[in-house]
Amino acid sequence: MKPPHSNIGNNEPVRHVLNVSGGKDSSAMALLMAGRIRGLEHFRQDGMEYLFCDTQKELPETYEYLARLEAELGSKITYLNAKAGFDHWHKVFGGYLPSPQNRWCTKLLKLKPFETHVGEDAVISYVGLRADEDRIGYISTKPNIKTRYPLREAGIDYQGVIRILEDSGLGLPTFMKWGRTNSGCTFCFFQTPYEWVRLYETYPDKFEEAMRYETADQNDPNKQFTWMEEGPLTRLLEPEVRKRILDTGVQTKSTKRGKALVNVFGNEAGEQPKPCLMCMK
Ligand code: SF4
Repeated sequence: MKPPHSNIGNNEPVRHVLNVSGGKDSSAMALLMAGRIRGLEHFRQDGMEYLFCDTQKELPETYEYLARLEAELGSKITYLNAKAGFDHWHKVFGGYLPSPQNRWCTKLLKLKPFETHVGEDAVISYVGLRADEDRIGYISTKPNIKTRYPLREAGIDYQGVIRILEDSGLGLPTFMKWGRTNSGCTFCFFQTPYEWVRLYETYPDKFEEAMRYETADQNDPNKQFTWMEEGPLTRLLEPEVRKRILDTGVQTKSTKRGKALVNVFGNEAGEQPKPCLMCMK
């Protein structure tokens, strides 16, 4: 296991930047890089800047968890806001909702504020990819920003993350108690049907806000913008569908290639898209 670098390869001063998302993986990584993990103290990186790109559409628990993480680290987490928020861009895109195929929200509300904040400085950006994951996506590709994956370097997998958070006393983010698996926007399209239903039951106002973004213009097939491929969120509120979803549970199952959505709408189960590294770690 290699200790953290202190420069990128020349004599330029390097900024060490760690984006936290309010989720479990980036929080465990922050503790690792703060030198809090016994046996892995050599990962400690002094002078770390902790950032959170705030879409202002996050769950209340995310803010609460970040405040506790900040106290645990004894370091400030700087909140970055995009100059123009989700509603602005939603309008610019003519009501087109982001999706796994077109993650304009991640680019404009997460990646861009981060890149603007670091400017042209030489930066090492720490990303919370675990040792048991193979996904790559939506990280900065600017030449002055190099990426490192400390959890992967340290061989820390899902169980390792849980252990770190429990041992530290921070625990898991409280949104996991009601069924949400990842941090990120309340209306994130990466949610499973189960998570949507649990959002409705936990925060009906946020579910209703998500519904208001949907456009299902029956007269114009080009103007049917929904969060789920299967149709508008109202479908989840049909008693039979809702019951089936809740009875089935988390709505994902393991396949040889990863996780797949369980067939709750009567259509073919498909591969579950992989959430963003910038938003949900
Ligand atoms: S959490 Fe989801 S909706 Fe929010 S910016 Fe990330 S991908 Fe987009």
